[in-house]
Amino acid sequence: MSLYQPRGECPTLSQPMATGDGLLLRLTPIAPLDKSAWTVLADFAAQHGNGLLDLTLRGGIQVRGLSAQGAALAPETLPAAGFAEQSPVLATDPLGLDDPHAWGDSHALAASVAPHLPGLPPGLPAKVTLALDAAGRLDDLAADLRLRWVEKDRVRLAVGPSWVAEDTADQIAAQALDWLRRLAKAGSRAVPLAPSPTLPAPPSGTALPLGPVTGSIALAAPAFGALTVAELRAVLALPGLVRLRPAAGRRLTLWFAATVPSQWPDFLAVDGNDPRLGISACIGAPGCAAALQATRTLAQTLAATDAALGSLHLSGCVKACGAPRDGTAHAAATPTGWAITNDHDGRLRAALALRGEKADGLCV
Ligand code: SF4
Repeated sequence: MSLYQPRGECPTLSQPMATGDGLLLRLTPIAPLDKSAWTVLADFAAQHGNGLLDLTLRGGIQVRGLSAQGAALAPETLPAAGFAEQSPVLATDPLGLDDPHAWGDSHALAASVAPHLPGLPPGLPAKVTLALDAAGRLDDLAADLRLRWVEKDRVRLAVGPSWVAEDTADQIAAQALDWLRRLAKAGSRAVPLAPSPTLPAPPSGTALPLGPVTGSIALAAPAFGALTVAELRAVLALPGLVRLRPAAGRRLTLWFAATVPSQWPDFLAVDGNDPRLGISACIGAPGCAAALQATRTLAQTLAATDAALGSLHLSGCVKACGAPRDGTAHAAATPTGWAITNDHDGRLRAALALRGEKADGLCV
């Protein structure tokens, strides 16, 4: 029996979720927003939250530690600045039409789908995701449904692990909405969830590298997928930054007026070999009152000393909020140690043991 006790729910803009450090809300921008919008978010998080922000695997951003008053103000303040929250989540490729290899405009297609989502029948499980990908950048992201361009204005629709249709962008969106209606009526996800079924590789390969993508666009990864408000403000102060978005895989895409800067703050990874990249961690202690361990402190230690640890996730308790479900090695704190899953070669267990941490449960 699994030791994990996932909540199976998602915090939304209209329905923030109670967590150990206050209320949590999620924003899921489908395209970049101007720097001015992010300044509004930074001010809001500083005033009404505990100053902590999390990036999500599917390209969202979460505001932590909100007061009840802040949660009540959010549905007015944040959409007025341009922020939206889509449910089900629309996960779009990081650059949209700015991707040198985009076969179409995934951001525009997502914007055309979004107004239809509130009209779906009730019953869709909380984490249902539709990936929209015009350049093969989300092929590794597990999604219930997938709209994946395969050439200019030819888009395939996948449901779970199977391709079910191919059409123009305009036509295929209606079919995706139809499938969402079916899932809602069945009250189910598209089981099994799957990365993209095999397709001819786009000319650019798949995942984008960190660092400069073009002369004026860069991709960066905040350490452990988290930002403080002060760090967000430091991002906004980067010379020439004009637009920004959270992107899948706990990344940020940054647009600059002229050229990408040559100097980056330490909390941003811009090199694919940065050892922090393989490690993610929930907020843990002291930020979350439910936490049994200081996950991000431990993550920092592991990243600094075990360059070859590979991918892993640390959870401060067995709720395992935001933990990847893709086979990544995972340690969740328990009252007596750590429950470990997917640690097939024993590296995570050995790394914890080296630091005097005890693995007390094994669930696979
Ligand atoms: S998994 Fe992490 S963030 Fe979620 S309740 Fe437990 S300690 Fe808090």
